[in-house]
Amino acid sequence: MELISREEAIKTIHKYFIKLLDKIPTETDGDGDTVYSDMKTLNSLLTINKWITKEIKALPTTEERKSGHWIDRKELIDADLNLWGYSQECSLCGFVLGAKEYNYCPNCGARMEEESNGIINSME
Ligand SMILES: [Zn+2]
Repeated sequence: MELISREEAIKTIHKYFIKLLDKIPTETDGDGDTVYSDMKTLNSLLTINKWITKEIKALPTTEERKSGHWIDRKELIDADLNLWGYSQECSLCGFVLGAKEYNYCPNCGARMEEESNGIINSME
């Protein structure tokens, strides 16, 4: 999936609308101000610009996928300090897994790309 900036898309479209507005003939009114002489074309362009901007703003969004790491769960070490099992906790949402089976969190979807606490890496 490719992601683009909604704001940049709107800016790009506006840039071309401004170029189109420059092509509408102008005239000088009674007060000496420069005004558009083709209001029908002007209003059409403004309406189209508004529609396109509205459509872009309504496009579906996707959240950027976050990165996290598995945290070794130390409470699995018993009273005699024997390690009797492993579990990992997602650094982002706290979801706990019994074993390091995933390179992503099944609960929040975070990619486990960050360096872990080191204990887990030694198991690989
Ligand atoms: Zn998570």
